[in-house]
This record gives sequence, structure tokens and C-alpha cells, in this order.
Amino acid sequence: MSNYQAEPWKIKMVEPIRQLSRPEREAAIVQAGYNTCLLDSRDVYIDLFSDSGVNAMSDRQWAAMMVGDEAYAGSASFTRLADTVRAYYGYPEVIPTHQGRGAEHILNRMLVRPGQHCPGNMYFPSTRVHQELNGGAFHDVIIDEAHDPSTVLPFKGNVDCDKLEKLIAEVGANNIPYLALGAPVNMAGGQPVSMANIDDLRALTSEHGIPLILDAARAVENAWFIQQREAGWANASIAEILRAMCDRTDGATMSAKKDSYANIGGWLGLRDAELATQARGLVVLFEGLHTYGGMAGRDMEAVAQGIEESVAEDNIRARIQQVGYLGDRLAAAGVPVMQPIGGHCVCIDAAAFLPHIPRERFPAQALAAALYVEGGVRGVERGMISAGRDPDTGENRTPNLELVRLAIPRRVYTQAHLDVVAEAVISLWHNRDSVRGLRFVHEPRYLRFFQAHFAPVD
Ligand SMILES: *Cc1c(COP(=O)(O)O)cnc(C)c1O
Repeated sequence: MSNYQAEPWKIKMVEPIRQLSRPEREAAIVQAGYNTCLLDSRDVYIDLFSDSGVNAMSDRQWAAMMVGDEAYAGSASFTRLADTVRAYYGYPEVIPTHQGRGAEHILNRMLVRPGQHCPGNMYFPSTRVHQELNGGAFHDVIIDEAHDPSTVLPFKGNVDCDKLEKLIAEVGANNIPYLALGAPVNMAGGQPVSMANIDDLRALTSEHGIPLILDAARAVENAWFIQQREAGWANASIAEILRAMCDRTDGATMSAKKDSYANIGGWLGLRDAELATQARGLVVLFEGLHTYGGMAGRDMEAVAQGIEESVAEDNIRARIQQVGYLGDRLAAAGVPVMQPIGGHCVCIDAAAFLPHIPRERFPAQALAAALYVEGGVRGVERGMISAGRDPDTGENRTPNLELVRLAIPRRVYTQAHLDVVAEAVISLWHNRDSVRGLRFVHEPRYLRFFQAHFAPVD
């Protein structure tokens, strides 16, 4: 790969990893109930379970942690974090939370009432659960193409404005507490949203008085795709594009475990001072004081420093390039992967990979387990199991996408590691007929994918 540019960092600290033998891996997956979520991480060679909180922090971030102010109230580290969020994301009101779902919890508790309708561009598990816990019903308003793994579009995460308008007409704007905009869309494999789409959504939601709330977890990655793909933005910096995205929204929930290179942390950003006062009232109950929100002072320092690094052009370029490298290698070998390759992960189309396994036998779950046995590589199911059951009917939801997600931690693995991953997937691709389907042995009620147990079926 002659055009593969070297990373803009060098390695200062290492963490040993080991590959178990194949019989040991076979025993480990049985022990884990064929659920890669339940594997002991020491038994995993290359861990692509998530890119959340598993980033390698920089020397600057570690140094910042040493000056963290652990004061219970009025921590100077909170001031640094809030100032940094205001500078780069532009929200005047910053409420710290322990991670993204803490911000989602507070936001949905404030905004969602029973019987209301919550539109979003494909769901994110924790977002939807918080909407539903508050009595809301989720509505997917993403463009149809996002549900087709093979359609290639530059902004496959866009909201379909017609779908949104139709929902508004049906239920009334008063029954829509906010529009949740994921940019990029995690569950669609990190597909970005265009600035033009955000403009349209701003106009539409303003017209109806509906708040527009950004899920900013990977907004920097989205900004990169806008810079690379959208007319008129090629000469803008990542920081400028990020700010332009946020400027078009009323608030954001943030998981600092993603873009911000932190191991923990999050925040809720708002413009409405009254809503922010209410949020500060809730954060004390559920997270911690409004000047730490469940984070240690040192965590807030790491997040603040991470935000500054996240918008550096060479950092974000290296990140997206690495994800693309793995995706392109798999695609070149004929492995069915979600197209185009997104910002944080490569998603294998498990339904196409294992056509002999019916959906109700969970091909993505089966493929994730088989990939662990094949190469000690851990990915995660994003399909039937993650989609859960419909709260009204109790039936399994059947999303169009049945994926195994290989999420790439930031600044953690080398190109050689990604080659190991590619070779394991390709070897399994050549032996795909040997993979068997699964059935539930234990099915938890909420976010079932984390703790479910399975057994193989013939
Ligand atoms: C991770 C994530 C969240 C939730 O954040 P946590 O920090 O895991 O609680 C919400 N939305 C998206 C898109 C995410 O990736």
C-alpha cells in the first residue's frame, strides 16, 4: 500500500497481548455462551469489540491527568473542559456526565413524555432505550439506502426529510420532543451525514419548533467526510466543519470515549439556559455534582486535551485511513462488507456471508463467535440480537442489517494487526459453510446483546 501514510505519532508505552491456541479459543467461546461480549479480554488477541473508551491516550493527555483538580465543587478541570467544549463544539451550556448514556438519560428525562414520538436516523441502542423508558416511541427516518449494505453513497447516514415531514404530519410537532441526529450513524457502520442535510433538518425542525439534538460521539469523523466529500467544504478545517455542524443544532449528547481519545467521560451541551438549569438539577441526582458529573478531575483534563487532538487533521486522517485499509482488504478478497467503509468500523454483512443460516438463527452472532475461534479477533453482533424485541408486541425485531462490526480503537493497533484481522476473516470466508447458527439459552430483558447466552443448532 504505497499510498498508506505513516501515523502522526510514535509508540511510547506498550501493553503485551497474546494469542491463545485454537483449542483454548474454542473452550473460551463455549464458556462465553457464544457471545463475544462475555469473553475475558485476556483471551482476546485483537480486540475490535468497540472503539469506545479503548483509545490510546497521548503523552499530553496523561500529563494533563496529573494536574487534574479533584475538588468536589468548582473543579478547575471542569472549567477547562467546559471552555474547550464551548470553543470546539460551541454549546454555551455544558453539563458533564460519566459517559454518553448519562447525557442521554438526563436529556430524555427532561424532554420525552409518554406517548410521544422520537425520530432519529437509525437507532443507537442506549439512545432508544432511554427514549422508550420515558414512554417515547422511536421512529427511524434515515434514508432507505442506509439499510442496504451494498449501496454506495457519500452520505448514507442522511435523514430522509420526507419521512420526517410525514411523521410530523401524522403525530403533530407537539408530540415530537426532539430529533436525534446521529452524525455519523453508528449502527449503519459509521455512515456520515452531509452539511446540506443538516441545513435542511435545521430549517424543517425550526419551522415546527422541534429541537435538533446531535449525537456528537463521532462528529469529528463526520466532519472529515464532509471535508473530503461535500462540495464547498474542501478548504474548511475539521475544527471549522465540526463547529458548523454544531452551530446548526440546539444541543448535543457526547460520549468522550469516542472522538475525544478518552477512556471515560461525556457531556450534554445545550443552548437553552432554562433547560440547562433543569439538567444541572438532574445531574446531581444521577451523575455527580454539576462540576464533575461522574468524572474525576483528571478524566475531565484527559477529555479536554483529547478534544484538541481530535480535530488535528493528521490525527483524523490516520484514523479514517486505518479503517479504510481493513475494509478495502476485505472487499478486495470478496468478503461482503458494508459499503462505503465508514469512519470507525468495518461491518461484515453476515447475512450475505452466511446465507445458509436463517435470520432467526442469528448469523451475525454466529459469525462473530466463529471469527474469535478463527483468529482470536473479537468483533460484535449488530443485527437481530442488538435490535431486541418490540416493547409492545414482544416480537424479535428484524432489522435489514445483520452485521458483525469490527470497530477500530484509536491509535492502538498497527497495520500488521489489521493484516492479522483481514487474514482471519478471509480464511473464515473460505470455510464459511462450516459455521452453524445459534439459539438463545439466556435472554436478558434490556440491551440483551451484552449478557445473552447461546448454543449452536444444526
Ligand atoms: C457510545 C455511543 C453512545 C453512548 O455513549 P456511552 O459513552 O457508551 O454511554 C451514544 N451514541 C453513540 C453514537 C455512541 O457511539
